[in-house]
Amino acid sequence: MNTIFQINYKILDFFRKTDTLKLYKKIVESQYASRDELRASQLNAFKNLLTHAYENVPYYSSLFKKISFHPEDFKSMDDLKKLPTTSKDIVRNNFNDIKAAGFESYKPRITQTGGTTGKPFLTYRDKLSHSYMWANIFRAWNAGGFEPGDRFINFAGGSLLPNTNLFKRNIYNFLQNAVLITSYHLNDERLKNISYTVTKSGAEYIFGYSSSIYLLSQYCKSNSISLKGYIKAVITTSDMLYHKQREVIEEVFGAKVFDLYGCPEGGIFSFECSEHNGYHVNQESALVEVTDSGQNGLGKIISTPLFNYAFPLIRYETGDVGSYSSKQCGCGRHLDRIEELGGRIRDFIVLRDGRYIHGAFFNHLNVLYNAEWIKQYQIVQTDVDNLTIKISKLEEPAEEALDLIKNEIHKGLLPDLKINFDLGGVEYTGGGKFRLIISNVSNKWQ
Ligand SMILES: [Zn+2]
Repeated sequence: MNTIFQINYKILDFFRKTDTLKLYKKIVESQYASRDELRASQLNAFKNLLTHAYENVPYYSSLFKKISFHPEDFKSMDDLKKLPTTSKDIVRNNFNDIKAAGFESYKPRITQTGGTTGKPFLTYRDKLSHSYMWANIFRAWNAGGFEPGDRFINFAGGSLLPNTNLFKRNIYNFLQNAVLITSYHLNDERLKNISYTVTKSGAEYIFGYSSSIYLLSQYCKSNSISLKGYIKAVITTSDMLYHKQREVIEEVFGAKVFDLYGCPEGGIFSFECSEHNGYHVNQESALVEVTDSGQNGLGKIISTPLFNYAFPLIRYETGDVGSYSSKQCGCGRHLDRIEELGGRIRDFIVLRDGRYIHGAFFNHLNVLYNAEWIKQYQIVQTDVDNLTIKISKLEEPAEEALDLIKNEIHKGLLPDLKINFDLGGVEYTGGGKFRLIISNVSNKWQ
């Protein structure tokens, strides 16, 4: 990293109130530490967190007492099964009791995640945890060749953008040498412009939603536009990346895809290395486990962020499935891997005017996302003119509530799109997975 960007990233840390640069330098080294060293420090950090939770966090304190568990009883990772997991419902129902004593002293910030549940899910992340998040993201990019300071395109929707005002966002982009492209409302004309930006921006890396980058690649492929020779690596995240999509992206960009699997509230920021055989887990700052594995080796991904002292989540159920491996990787890193990732699906809504709407659009629609009467929602596109919003409700909606939602969707999408409501509840797949967006409209990209 050159001196100018060392300074820029220090300024960024100052604005963001983080210590990212310091931690980044630390973890690009520690990923090559021996397996025993990594395990030992992980175990130590986990034990410290247990002691903290026992002494300072009302929810865990009473839980541990109820099950007659004392942090001193925790000797090795085999003892993990003595501890119950923490589900999203537990977090919602015990929200204030998960805040640690002296909560404010950890400089916590509220974080909102969504995507798979159709309802905002709130947690807090303290300063150290927030710093680790950014350090882990940069390390993941670094595995694809990126060095902080290298010019990159951030092709993202709301959840990947800094949750801040436009002025600050512009400063962040400038300091990071980033070109921002929003992934909302992608139609052929926008995709054409974006492909132009890729060739003219001087960016060496592109980072964004897998589904959006795939859409861009498909557009380029169909229109014989080559993006070869501009981008050194394509870094994808947020959606499940399918093999076929990876092939198309790599063909169009003439560059390798490095996929990331993250669960921010669970502290997971796992990444592909040059071997592309799974996702190296950030063991320095999270304890990731896979439990209840089925015959195919896939089980529930459970994670404990090790440094979120303001709002500890011990054995948090991420809602994702995968398989776990401690086998040595050819790249030389000793971090364990999530070998196979089972599921996270986000489809696109297809509009009559040719636009493809990313699922994230609905996660940023406040009338739906933050409505107090809605427990969970799901968008089903039955045909190109009809959208059904399935809702599991907590109470009866006010008279104008449905119209408000309808108006907002019409404003954002198409005024003549027919919006239907089904207040009979959301649906799960046979395998028990929830899909926020279900589109029955076939489109040329699939
Ligand atoms: Zn590796």
